[in-house]
Parts: sequence; structure tokens; C-alpha cells
Amino acid sequence: MRLLSWAAGAVLLFIFGMAIATRIPAVQDAMFERVAGKALQPRQTALFDGDGLKVIFCGTSSPVPSLKREQTCTAIVAGDQFYLVDAGTGSWEVLQAGGMPGGKIGGVFLTHFHSDHIGDLSEVNLNTWFGGRTAPLSVYGPEGVERVVEGENEALALDTLYRIAHHGEQVMPPQTAGMTAFSFDGSAPHVVFEKDGLKVTAFPVKHDPVKPAVGYRFDYKGRSVSISGDTAYSESLIENSKGVDVLIHEAQSNLMVGKMRDAAQAANIGNLAKVLSDIMTYHTTPEEAARAANEAGADWLILTHFTPPPDNPIAKRMFMRGVSKIRRDNVKMADDGLVVLLPEAGGISFSAL
Ligand SMILES: [Zn+2]
Ligand SMILES: [Zn+2]
Repeated sequence: MRLLSWAAGAVLLFIFGMAIATRIPAVQDAMFERVAGKALQPRQTALFDGDGLKVIFCGTSSPVPSLKREQTCTAIVAGDQFYLVDAGTGSWEVLQAGGMPGGKIGGVFLTHFHSDHIGDLSEVNLNTWFGGRTAPLSVYGPEGVERVVEGENEALALDTLYRIAHHGEQVMPPQTAGMTAFSFDGSAPHVVFEKDGLKVTAFPVKHDPVKPAVGYRFDYKGRSVSISGDTAYSESLIENSKGVDVLIHEAQSNLMVGKMRDAAQAANIGNLAKVLSDIMTYHTTPEEAARAANEAGADWLILTHFTPPPDNPIAKRMFMRGVSKIRRDNVKMADDGLVVLLPEAGGISFSAL
């Protein structure tokens, strides 16, 4: 008993001591210096070991707001470079906070030009520029990508001049500033990128009235990942994702969206009710995504671009209702920062940035 009270006293004294110590400026400085030294380092160098494919979820939300998720973005690491599929608002922060080395970017692939897929292009551009990329940022997409890139470059023209003037040409080299668009025909499947063993194939998906809209398949060292972009249930996606290791599919719970629409109607928020009603036909339900994964013969199905974002266990359960009847195993809901490792020797494992 006496020993216990001694132990409790010692713990209390320690907590009390810490509370006082953290008010001392010199202690605060020492703690901050220690954390800053670690946090500012690009820490994810192990991802670039060239062993198969890696996927990082840099944004898993949709235009429906979430405090836990950024808008849509998926990073693929192959060899010594990483590639982004879409760059939704807030997504660069996930990669930067996770310690990704910006200079290793190989390009951005856009699936279509809805704002929730391109909102962070300027952040990706700026941070990979001073991160040390060796050329202007390559942005690939179906026809229309030139217009998006031209507009972004124009919007950032003054910012670019300020950065060069302020930090100097060594840190902000004018010859690697800005973005370059590479456009392709989005109406039929074809290989749009090939480099050092990485092959990227674009294929059309169904997101009417948004045309063109594409998904992408990445093949590298015998491993493969397919990304749906925004689409309703799509035969083309299934056809072009045959036998992939991971199908990354957007998902929208029409059950939940329908209830949100009814609530908006009841609250007389007419514009919102109309939008919620309109979007019900151009996305894929979790059950349909499970069926698509089965038909494609995908080993794993990972859901992302959640409408609405299910941010608590009850919402997650409701979102996934009915899925296990169609596909029992190898289904996962992505969170921001999820890392998927697909080594050349086979297998799959998960970690976090
Ligand atoms: Zn979207
Ligand atoms: Zn869209």
C-alpha cells in the first residue's frame, strides 16, 4: 500500500514537473528543434527502392466536405519516381506532411476536369518545383488538359516571378517552372505513357455529361493497379482492369445520398437537393464496385472518392451495406495516408505514410 502511494506520488510529481518544464522557453525551443529537424526531412525514401508498385492514398473524399479526408488523389510509386492520379484540394498536404520527396514526381495524370480532381494542381506544381524536379511538371490527360494547364500557368504567372525574385534562380530555376500539358484521345483505350518499365494505359469511363473521362491502369514489374476515376458502373473499366492486383474504385452510397437529398428538400435548400439528385446516376455504388472487381478478376478492391465521406464506424457500416454478399474478402475502404505495397515477388501489405 505504501509502495503504491509512493508510485502514485512519483507519477504525479513527474506530470507536475513536465507541466512546469514545458512552460520554460528553452525547453520549448529544444523540443521544437528536435521535432522540426525530423519533420522537414523527406522521410519516404524507402518507397523508392524499385521493388514493385506502391500506392499512396493522398485524398479519399469527394466534394461532400470532410474534416478527416482531402479531395481525391492517388499516388503511384514505380522505380525512382511517383505519379499522381488527380490532385484534389488539400491532397498535396497529405503527401508533404507524410514526408514525400517532391522532386521525385514523374507527372500528374488527370482523369477529368471536375474541380475536386484538379484543385491542388498549383500546390503540386509549386512544391515539386522547389523540391527539385528536373523539368516543368508534366500533366497528362484527355483532350481539354491543355486548357486547364494553360489557365493554371497563367494564374500562377505572377507567383512564379515573385518566387524567383525572392528565393533566387538556384532554388527556383525558371527553366523548370510551370506545367506542360500532354493530351491524348480519351475515347478509346491506349497506352499513354511508357518509361523504365512502367506502362500507363488510359481507358474511357462513364461520367456523362462529363466527356472525356478516363481511368488509368499502371503496370510495373509484373504488378498492376487500376484506378477508376469518376464513373458509373463501366464495362470499359472492367475490360481494361482484367486480373489487376488492386482495383481502386470510386464509391457513392446512393442510399445515403438519397437521404441527404430528402433532408435538403425538407430544409428548402433547393440547389443542394437538385445537385444531390443529379449525381446519383454518374457514380458507382459500393455494391456495383464489388461486382466490377469480381468481373475484372481483381485480387483486391480498395474504395476511395467517397460520396458522402463515411467518417465514423456507423457511417462506414451503412456505406458498405450489401457489399459482403457480393464480395466477401479482399475489400478495403481507403483512408488518407494509406500505403499499399505490391512487391515484385508477390503479395500485398498495408501501412501508413
Ligand atoms: Zn469527383
Ligand atoms: Zn467527376
